[in-house]
Amino acid sequence: MKYVLLLAVAGSLFFATPASADVRMYSLQDTLSKKQPDTTKVVPPDSTKTAAADSAKKKKDEKPTIDEKIKSSKKIDGLFTLYQDTANASLQLYLTKEQLDKNFIYQSFSMGGPTALYLNQNMIRDTWLFSIRKHNDKIEFLQQNTAFYYDPDNPVSKAANADVAETIFHSEKIAASDSAGYLIPIDGLFISNKLDAVKPVMPPGTPPTVFNLGNLSTGKSSYDTIRSFPKNTDVVVRLTYENPAPMSGGGKDITDARYVTVKMQHSFLEVPQNSYRARRDDPRVGYFGAQVDDLTSISPTPYRDFISRWHLEKKNPNARITEPVEPIIFWIENTTPLEYRPIIKEAGEKWNEAFEAAGFKNAIVMKQMPDDVDWDPADIAYNVIRWKSSASPSYGAIGPSFFNPLTGQILGADITVEWKSGAGTPVMDDLFNGSNAMTASLPWEDPAQAVAPQVDYIHHSQINRMALCNMANELSMQYQTGLVAVETLDASSSDAGRAETVREMHKQFLYYLIMHEMGHTLGLNHNMRASQMLSPEQLHDTKLTRKIGLQGSVMDYPAINVSRDRSKQGDYYTTKAGPYDIWAIEYGYTPFTPAEEERGLTRILSKSTDPQLAFGNDADDMRSPGKAIDPRVNVNDHSNDMMAYGEERFLLVNDMMPKLKSRFSRPNQGYQELLQRYSQLNSQRFSMAAAISRYIGGVYVDRSFVGQETDIQPYTPVPLATQKKAMELLGNYVFAPDAFKEDYALFPYLQPQRRGFNFFSGTEDYKPQNTFRSLQVSTLSHILHPTTLSRINNSSLYGNEYSVAEVMKDLTETIFDADLGGSVDLVRQNLQTDYVTALSGILEAKTGYDHASKAAALATLADLKTKLGDAASGSDAQTDAHRKNLLFMIAKALSVDKS
Ligand SMILES: [Zn+2]
Repeated sequence: MKYVLLLAVAGSLFFATPASADVRMYSLQDTLSKKQPDTTKVVPPDSTKTAAADSAKKKKDEKPTIDEKIKSSKKIDGLFTLYQDTANASLQLYLTKEQLDKNFIYQSFSMGGPTALYLNQNMIRDTWLFSIRKHNDKIEFLQQNTAFYYDPDNPVSKAANADVAETIFHSEKIAASDSAGYLIPIDGLFISNKLDAVKPVMPPGTPPTVFNLGNLSTGKSSYDTIRSFPKNTDVVVRLTYENPAPMSGGGKDITDARYVTVKMQHSFLEVPQNSYRARRDDPRVGYFGAQVDDLTSISPTPYRDFISRWHLEKKNPNARITEPVEPIIFWIENTTPLEYRPIIKEAGEKWNEAFEAAGFKNAIVMKQMPDDVDWDPADIAYNVIRWKSSASPSYGAIGPSFFNPLTGQILGADITVEWKSGAGTPVMDDLFNGSNAMTASLPWEDPAQAVAPQVDYIHHSQINRMALCNMANELSMQYQTGLVAVETLDASSSDAGRAETVREMHKQFLYYLIMHEMGHTLGLNHNMRASQMLSPEQLHDTKLTRKIGLQGSVMDYPAINVSRDRSKQGDYYTTKAGPYDIWAIEYGYTPFTPAEEERGLTRILSKSTDPQLAFGNDADDMRSPGKAIDPRVNVNDHSNDMMAYGEERFLLVNDMMPKLKSRFSRPNQGYQELLQRYSQLNSQRFSMAAAISRYIGGVYVDRSFVGQETDIQPYTPVPLATQKKAMELLGNYVFAPDAFKEDYALFPYLQPQRRGFNFFSGTEDYKPQNTFRSLQVSTLSHILHPTTLSRINNSSLYGNEYSVAEVMKDLTETIFDADLGGSVDLVRQNLQTDYVTALSGILEAKTGYDHASKAAALATLADLKTKLGDAASGSDAQTDAHRKNLLFMIAKALSVDKS
């Protein structure tokens, strides 16, 4: 059950629209009139005057009939019957008695709004199970809690949900009734924040400069489209939020931050009644789904978690492979660029190979949405791959779906591709461009902050299962690297040849993007371990990769597969479902009879020890410093030998640097493109440094269950040799004095293009020391993170041979030894200063760092003091100043008498 914050919006909400005011006046009058009759009074029987008054009063007491209440309204019939006033558009809901005390599904969608708040078109948001009941003279709407299961045969089930707080999200007085049901005004539910609370709740301490919506103005809010079908009723509303004095103007998509309208769709759906059975979740395979606790179980794992998946039934139940009764149909929206349509169709259909393992032929059907259709792609009956172009999309592509919260049956899905990523245009104007100040909080400065989970300003639990997927942006950055490689390293081939290579690379990129997002809509979450399936050599063996794929799964965020030796280039991206994908679909979709099911699932799961089926998702990946433990589960990595692959990528970047300027300084244009390409290459250094550094202090995780064929223990520390190799590579390509020497010639040319007054808020020159400092410090942030150091210590008790003291000794050597006898350049001065700052921070930290880490930091600083003291005098004044500063910092850190 999700935690949904309903907002206490302006108290005047009910009185603001004319329609709502009517409702409230009626209720008030009704309540008052009830107090009038006094039955204890004896009335003279023959008083005509009293009788007339009595009759008038009786008439006044009588409720209007339904016919009277709806006489100026248009009827909208479907799952729920709605009446909309033809004059003021106010809405009334007619409930039949059969609809009371029955479960329905509520689903919200944002249909357009600030991208920064994830309110853009096509975002699938909250799913609730709800019911409606009559309580005295009111109709109440209740959200149901689906988090618990009670065995009906266990007597304790009679006390089911005893302590679950009742959630009444709306209550409305009955306006009129007849023998079959009740009529209520319903504006107070739809034109409000009572359903999906659209305005995000910012955590305490959020700076006012973070953009948010103001207060809901019911007067300015209105209905857009209302559709009702036999199985669902959709009410699309335009909610306007007002903030008279916004501190943030929002992004470019916000026209005026004082008045922001969000278009939302509220859908009420019938709970499907069919033969679908929930399929249990398992930690070895990655599906979206829901968690349910069995409160009548004595099992150590009393979970009845289920996965989300489509309801596929075999047309011919006895055939090994047969078409489904109803396939999963995806429509390619008519906004999609023509040249991409066939690629998208092909990519979607590629999933059929996986479904064959589950016994289905043509499970996925891809159709082109014609230009002249009378259906709306927002209609939940259609699964649509949408294509749009936003100024600052919060994602590159997403593939959200929504499901029955009782069973996991997927009821609808959409994919949205943003032009910026889908078309492969650069998406990273501002990243790594040297002007970034260091904004990340460093773990040694505030370990408590570093240990605490990252707080996003957006309340993410409000964004339900929308498969927040940053893959397209990451993929796009990787794609740019591929482009640069082809442009610079294939320089000897013809222009036509290069153009053909780029076309093929973009096709593979788009293929991967669509297959990935389609995978989400089939229920799969990420598998960030899948890119570790093949060795670096195998990755370019197209005979192999076109048979089994480059990766175990398309659900990873892989580094683009570029060969430094251009003659050996294989495919850039995988273009087929990998072994893990096929196996995961087999697990999720193979139909079983109830009697066969558990045996069948166990048989499928027993294969999980096959390295090609390895799995780990976002919760396990090590993308942020200090997060997670298994370095094989990561983004922007590739191959089962990241030491070799990472080194080749560093060398590839260094190969490209000297060729960048001639290739991307084109006549009649400025240097913006050169700057962008340079930044993109630097992003590869960031990715590789991140991927490699995670091996230091890493612990391999194995999720197989007892009894499976494997001799691998659940936790195995990374071998010493691998950790040492990672340290050596970081030394050579991130920390060494000559690590970036190929870049220096470019710095005088890295000029951003002027646009209006865009240099007003900062100076325009490129600041290389910021870029390199950011790379080096982010690498140190992981190695010296309290979580990493404490794991190095903990894992020393079960096999880790690299102690914190040795890690710091090796870091000290790599950061100081090469230039100890002479001049220290600016980049190394920063690195050395940051390293000493980090060690001092560890020493001073009140929380976070364990005893062994603090001891090692102290010993390292003491050794460093000797080392620097013995160092020969620098050959220049700046180096002398730098070393004096370091010695001062160390003395301060080591002094007992700290003020
Ligand atoms: Zn994704």
